[in-house]
Amino acid sequence: MIIILKKEATKANADELLGIIEAQGLKPLYMPGSERTVLGALGDERVLATLNLEAHPYVDRLLPILAPYKMVSRELQAHDTVVDVDGVPIGPGHFTVIAGPCSVESEEQIVESARRVKAAGGKILRGGAYKPRSSPYAFQGLEEEGLRLLSIAKEETGLPIVTEIIDVHDIDVVSKHADMFQVGARNMQNFRLLRELGKSRKPVFLKRGMSAGYNDLLMSAEYILSEGNPNVVLCERGVKTFITGTRNTLDLNAVPYLKSKTHLPVVVDPSHGTGIREMVLPMSKAALAAGADGLMVEMHPHPDQALSDGMQSLFPEQFEKLMEVIRRYAELEGRVLP
Ligand code: PEP
Ligand code: MN
Repeated sequence: MIIILKKEATKANADELLGIIEAQGLKPLYMPGSERTVLGALGDERVLATLNLEAHPYVDRLLPILAPYKMVSRELQAHDTVVDVDGVPIGPGHFTVIAGPCSVESEEQIVESARRVKAAGGKILRGGAYKPRSSPYAFQGLEEEGLRLLSIAKEETGLPIVTEIIDVHDIDVVSKHADMFQVGARNMQNFRLLRELGKSRKPVFLKRGMSAGYNDLLMSAEYILSEGNPNVVLCERGVKTFITGTRNTLDLNAVPYLKSKTHLPVVVDPSHGTGIREMVLPMSKAALAAGADGLMVEMHPHPDQALSDGMQSLFPEQFEKLMEVIRRYAELEGRVLP
């Protein structure tokens, strides 16, 4: 429920109401504005009804939040959230490109990747140290050693790091090396993990599950925000459909749909969305046109030797070309590459 206070309501009046809300076991939210103060009360709607808040002298009116998700909803927050990743903004006005290899494989590979990403204009380095693979016999990632190598790449280039976390027990160690946690498609509904990441302030890059609907994704983001972490970026990375030929079907409907429902930034991953490197550039252009706030692209210094996702990884020269094209398209759309 959204509670709009009367113009004359003071901070003390708001505090009194917040106290009433909290005493009922509901989650109170305080949102001061230039015109009016707005409060939120999240939780069991039946409890809310018993409070009779509309009769309170400083309450102007109550507005229900109709969506099942609350804190991520535009009903609660109309303005767009811009997430800051160690100084790099992700959100409207910008078009932020995150790039790097699927997996961290060696110091040479990740440092070279970082240099190429930076030289071409990419702003955040990606690279998996913990890899959730379909086969237990496939390369599982360098784990802690991979995190250490990511830190070296950051020291060399200054690029902030995003890397996947697959287990709650790794939060501390990943936190030491990463500027943003990536939650992969396979863990989008690992609610324990989402809750724990919600207790951190570090940004979370939340990828859509491969069979997840829009509400599923938004409810997963709600888990993180409801624990206190407002820094969430959503990522469309393709879904399973009856289509063969591509690895996934990149669902670009997701971009304008999600942006109409939530204030959180939405980024597109055309690499996992297609599985084919030649399709990454055209789908990147389409993502920008659809209103995405950025891209996550896989690039490898030697994709033919990659230990994971080589087929969809761009050669560095292809990534340079992509950035050149995207820069021109971004201008057309009134976006800046930060
Ligand atoms: C990845 O980014 O390398 C990855 C494993 O992505 P997803 O979780 O979208 O499959
Ligand atoms: Mn990958």
